[in-house]
Amino acid sequence: PSSEPMLSLDRIEVYYGNIAAVRGLTLTVMPGEIVTLLGSNGAGKSTTLRTISGLLHPRRGTMTFEGRRLNGLPAHQIVRLGIVQAPEGRRIFPRMSVDENLDLGAFVRTDRHGIAADKEQVYELFPRLRERIAQRAGTLSGGEQQMLALGRALMARPKLLLLDEPSMGLAPVLVELIFETIARIRQQGTTVLVVEQNALAALEIADRAYVLESGRLKVSGAAVDVANNPEVVQAYLGG
Ligand code: ATP
Repeated sequence: PSSEPMLSLDRIEVYYGNIAAVRGLTLTVMPGEIVTLLGSNGAGKSTTLRTISGLLHPRRGTMTFEGRRLNGLPAHQIVRLGIVQAPEGRRIFPRMSVDENLDLGAFVRTDRHGIAADKEQVYELFPRLRERIAQRAGTLSGGEQQMLALGRALMARPKLLLLDEPSMGLAPVLVELIFETIARIRQQGTTVLVVEQNALAALEIADRAYVLESGRLKVSGAAVDVANNPEVVQAYLGG
């Protein structure tokens, strides 16, 4: 296994106007890892993901992916490098079918056989989506839309998958299904950086974790250690 980070953020600072949302964040993701980014509301988690995706640009600090500098690259080029963020919440195309939504996820690709094989794999991960293959996506339940959003991101065959609260608003049984699926996605070779409010569930599948507070790194380390860190337990894991 390579010891070079796949993704590396070095002292990143991100602002909205004069307001610093991320302050001096240093973070790495190694190939094959699941890394989780935790913290309370407004800690800067989504901002960090949007910055990696190229939707926001850091005022200071450097970002590299597979040794390549990301700073200043537009979002569409970052997707082409293999960094794909699953659409937040339920941002799927409501008037299109489940199957068409998955096709749209593969828009950066031209390998037709690979696309078909990956679609088959998405339907294996989410049999519920296969049962609703021709259904308009806007009529799916919230949980099914979440699965579709994740499936659509996988269709881009990302090297690094970015997930922003994939379990948001889901019933506990679906939360479990989503996290099991993320673990399977990693087993199939995709590296994952996942932002979660549901810290316990995320720490169970993650290798390492970073905890943000007001835009600054508060704690980081192996997921098991973070899960047992008294400060983290107190603040995020309900005592
Ligand atoms: P949540 O879980 O509530 O989404 P988060 O950790 O993802 O929290 P961010 O959404 O990254 O936090 O927000 C970090 C800070 O930046 C917050 O103080 C937020 O109010 C601010 N912020 C986020 N988006 C904007 C924006 N478009 N304009 C101005 N400030 C913003």
